[in-house]
Amino acid sequence: MKRRADIVIRDAMLIDGTGSDATRGDLAVVGDRIVAMGELKDWAGAREIDAEGLAVAPGFVDVHTHDDRAVLATDMTAKLSQGVTTVVSGNCGISLGPVPGLRDVVPPLDLIAEGRGDLFATFADYLAALDARVPPVNVAALTGHTTLRLATMDRLDRAATAAECGEMRRLLAEALEAGSIGLSTGLYYQPANAASTAEVIAVAEPLARYNGIYATHMRDEADLIRDAMEEAFEIGRASDSPVVISHHKVTDPKNYGRTRETLPVIAERAREQPVTLDVYPYAASSTVLEARRAASVDRIMITWSKARPDLAGRMLADIADEMGVSREDAVARLQPAGAVYFTMDEDDVQRVLKFPLSMIGSDGLPHDIRPHPRLWGTFPRVLGHYARDVGLFGLEEAVRRMTALPAARFGLKGRGRLAEGAFADLVVFDPATVLDRADYADPVQLSAGIKEVFVNGRTAWTGAAPGEERAGRVLRNHDLAPKDFESFAA
Ligand SMILES: [Zn+2]
Repeated sequence: MKRRADIVIRDAMLIDGTGSDATRGDLAVVGDRIVAMGELKDWAGAREIDAEGLAVAPGFVDVHTHDDRAVLATDMTAKLSQGVTTVVSGNCGISLGPVPGLRDVVPPLDLIAEGRGDLFATFADYLAALDARVPPVNVAALTGHTTLRLATMDRLDRAATAAECGEMRRLLAEALEAGSIGLSTGLYYQPANAASTAEVIAVAEPLARYNGIYATHMRDEADLIRDAMEEAFEIGRASDSPVVISHHKVTDPKNYGRTRETLPVIAERAREQPVTLDVYPYAASSTVLEARRAASVDRIMITWSKARPDLAGRMLADIADEMGVSREDAVARLQPAGAVYFTMDEDDVQRVLKFPLSMIGSDGLPHDIRPHPRLWGTFPRVLGHYARDVGLFGLEEAVRRMTALPAARFGLKGRGRLAEGAFADLVVFDPATVLDRADYADPVQLSAGIKEVFVNGRTAWTGAAPGEERAGRVLRNHDLAPKDFESFAA
């Protein structure tokens, strides 16, 4: 009598997510769980998959996303087609709630919200909408400090008063109670830049009570990056919460090479307080189009423009030439708009990718007309380009940075590893051919080599199209494990 499973994947190269060497074997799934691994001759699957020559890994965790609205409004093909089964949303200070009053959407919140109709009065409302819609991938959601400022302040070009900090603190505690996994800031951006360190510490106070995490797009990623890092660590210590440095990079040619300075500091701090970081595998960044960067960054590509949608994909310098105006004036004529900034050094990108504490986060912008290719290519690019072709690290190590490491840091219980009893979030891929195809010229393209993706035991990506059902879940704070900053220490 054979044991019955819903799915048995046979003869696969099993990559368990911990960084251990791959082993050859079979894997059985019943319902939403992995029930057996190894040589499963005495098991029969309602569906049998021959995975000879293919790898099976835990579904990838995209720790840095702006998928807040995309998980409601789209089928998430951009992520599922890369093997991503869980996203962390609400990064860089922006989330779709809580905004109790009627407030207009300001940049960079317009990266995720078209207008105030997309905002939710409470975080509980947002998570309930996700539950009702059923997200195509699992979602762990951060609450944005910029959103809290928008909810509580009449103007954003100043630090919050004690009363406003108190109101933000109350809204954050409510969000954490509803299931938010922590607080994000985007202190770099104008609507949060006037916030003092003390303001963020005051707002972040509930984090410790709820085992929440603090993720930050730091105030500065260029000349003053060291000060910005110290500010992040200080906020983490004062609020007794783990720190995630978002999309770590150093920008501007005069700072090229400075990851030699920043990474040892992060390694040192990580021995004293819980600290980690994420990175995307590209030497160009992307966000809203900003006049202040038009002068300092040489190559800027427009990703969307409300005023001139036809100019998406064009270089700002060419647009300015054609308009016969300065680049700053061209920026003004395109607003609101988004851009790709070619402003990093490849050696820095590789150094951050190789750093043992680095998790992979796409930072993809899902509503851009001509998005940065990281939206569609991040994970296959790390596996195919950086691990296999460049040889930055082995395949198992590449997988660890997108599975067990983020699952430990964010407390994603039962995810991020191949193990009996774990959730059946799985990626079947070809290690020989996996590769990103999206590039700056043609950024909306499926990657090569991702054969099938399962979310909670359901087919979520067939290799060519999304599965028939949306099978993701909202991962609420109180359902998570304690955030583990001990495993995989540097
Ligand atoms: Zn950011």
